[in-house]
Order: sequence, then C-alpha cells, then structure tokens
Amino acid sequence: VTILAIESSCDETSASVCVDGKILSNIIANQSVHEAYGGVVPELASRAHMQNIVPVVDSALAAAHCPLSAIDAIAFTQAPGLIGCLLVGTQFAKSLSLALNKPLIAVHHMQAHVLANMIPQPLPDGTVSAPIAFPFLCLTVSGGHTQIVLATSPLAQTVIGQTIDDAAGEAFDKSAKLLGLPYPGGPLIDQYAKLGNPLAFKFAEPQIPELNFSFSGLKTSILYFLQKQETGFIAANLHDLCASIQHSIITILLKKLNKAVQQIGVKNIAIAGGVSANSGLRQALQDMGKKKGWKTHIPAFEYCTDNAGMIAITGYYKYLAGDFTDLNVSPSARAEW
Ligand code: ATP
Ligand code: MG
Ligand code: FE
Repeated sequence: VTILAIESSCDETSASVCVDGKILSNIIANQSVHEAYGGVVPELASRAHMQNIVPVVDSALAAAHCPLSAIDAIAFTQAPGLIGCLLVGTQFAKSLSLALNKPLIAVHHMQAHVLANMIPQPLPDGTVSAPIAFPFLCLTVSGGHTQIVLATSPLAQTVIGQTIDDAAGEAFDKSAKLLGLPYPGGPLIDQYAKLGNPLAFKFAEPQIPELNFSFSGLKTSILYFLQKQETGFIAANLHDLCASIQHSIITILLKKLNKAVQQIGVKNIAIAGGVSANSGLRQALQDMGKKKGWKTHIPAFEYCTDNAGMIAITGYYKYLAGDFTDLNVSPSARAEW
C-alpha cells in the first residue's frame, strides 16, 4: 500500500510517501517569513503553503522514487490547525484524488503526532526498531496542545488529560520571548540550557487537579522574577535562566505523566509533538523510565515537529481500516476526537 501524505496545518508545508508502513520520504519546507513578526501570521502562512505545496510534493515523490501512478490513496491533515493553511492542503489533496481517481483519507493532526511513534526507526546495527506495543500512554507536547493520550490501538486514542491554558510549546516560546529570544524560542532554550544550571532559579509550580496541566502561571512567575532584576541580568544569566525554565517545564510534564502511569497502570510510555524534540525532556523521560521500570519510546527528531511522515503512517492505518472520506470533506480549525 502506497500513501502520499500532505501536512499544512501551521507553518510547515510537508509531503511524505509511505509504503506498507515504511516512510520513504518526508520533505518539510519551513517558512522563514514569520520570523520578523515574532509568531506565525496565518495569512502569510497560507500563501507560503500555496507556493510550496507543488514543489514539496514533487520532491517527496522523487525522493521516494515513486511515480504518481503508484499512489493508492492520498492522506491529508484535516484538523486542527489554521483554517487557511488546512484549506491549501485539503484542496490540493482533493484535486489530486479527483485527477488520479484514488481515495482520500482525512487525518487528525494530534492523532498523527501520537502515531509518529509507530514509524520504524533505523538502529545503529542496521536493523529497525521494534514497533511500540499497545496499549501505551503518550505525552503529546506541541505548540498548540499538551495532552496525555491513552492509545489502545493505532486509531483508538483517548485524551485523559490536557492543558487548561497554554501549551508546553507556548510555555517555551513565551518564556523565550521574555528573555528577548526570537520566535520560535523553544529550540533556543534547549540549546542554551545545555550550558546552564537547571536549579539556579525556581519558578512557581502549578497545582492543577487530575491529569491536567497549566502553564500560564509559570510565564507570569518568570515575568515577575525578571522585572525585579537589574539591567544586564538576562545576558549575564542566560544559560542558567534557560536551564531553569526548561527544568520547570519538564518537571511539570513528568509529574503528571507519572501520575497517569500510576492511575492507568500502563507502562509503555511515548512522547510526541514539537517539544518532544527537546533534549532535556528526552533525557529526563529515559531517566525516569529506567527508575520506574517503564518502556519508553521517543520518535526520531524529524517526526517530532510538524511533518507529513506522521500523517502518512496514520493514513496507512486508516487505509487498512477502510476509513476513507469523500470529496465533500472540509477542514476544521478545531476538532473533537
Ligand atoms: P499543534 O501540533 O498543537 O497543532 P504545532 O503543530 O504548531 O502545534 P509542533 O510543530 O508540533 O506544534 O511543535 C512546535 C513547538 O515545539 C514550538 O512551540 C517549538 O518551540 C517547540 N519546540 C521545537 N523544538 C523544541 C525543542 N528542542 N525544545 C523545546 N521546544 C521545542
Ligand atoms: Mg511550526
Ligand atoms: Fe503539530
């Protein structure tokens, strides 16, 4: 089964070819146009998708040595995301479906982030990783979402906890902004944190019931702390600040994940989403897993932030389940599971 997948929910235009669950190509075009604005500008993002989508799909097909005629189905991100951006990918997928007379598969972006864990990973000895076993718990941490998901099969996923305000990625990006770092600040905090002391500064920790998260208090706590300092403080303490902020976010995430493991009794643990690219979180999860006897699973870097590979693998499982959609489908900015 050969799936062509398209992702266009935010500011990455991406296309991927997947054959029988193996990702043969995963081409991602980032949009630099937003840097000057300190965040993603929806209208500019849609326009960039329109410019990028044909060359990105062409490159994905070429890299996979896959002619259009070999495609069995076209998968695309239907929700959630920026509506103008989703429209570009949806219209493109529909047009291709009509032209090739091949079925369409609508994919939920958050479900796909979780299933990035099902993409086989090449191991140093030349073999590929064993697939993650079901059921598993996934901590999905991205730019717009923070969720704990219980997955009992590829397409049966239940959100059992989530943020009541900011997402973990927003916590990284907004903290970075307070430090005067450019957008998106998450990867920069990761980089500077490597040279700093994670226990140098302490910020307020939220007390939120159940398996839910809150990150808006952390941002306020950082803001008040910085306002009390003298000029030059940030530059002189940048590494320690980044390490401490990152440590605070990771502590909040792993405490709730641990609570979920105790409540649900599932010890197969995965992470997903852009923040799962964070080196501190990846290390902390592995350390905690060793200590608690969890089996941990972390997607390869290229499948953490937005990518069509994760849409392709989800499309593949939907294809096997016969879960197709028709040409009347429309994208949705918000989506229930
Ligand atoms: P959603 O998936 O919720 O719709 P999104 O698609 O915009 O949102 P992703 O692309 O999955 O989100 O993730 C982007 C986020 O990941 C940004 O907030 C970015 O700062 C963060 N991020 C990426 N790399 C790192 C890193 N190494 N450390 C911390 N945060 C990171
Ligand atoms: Mg992005
Ligand atoms: Fe995403």
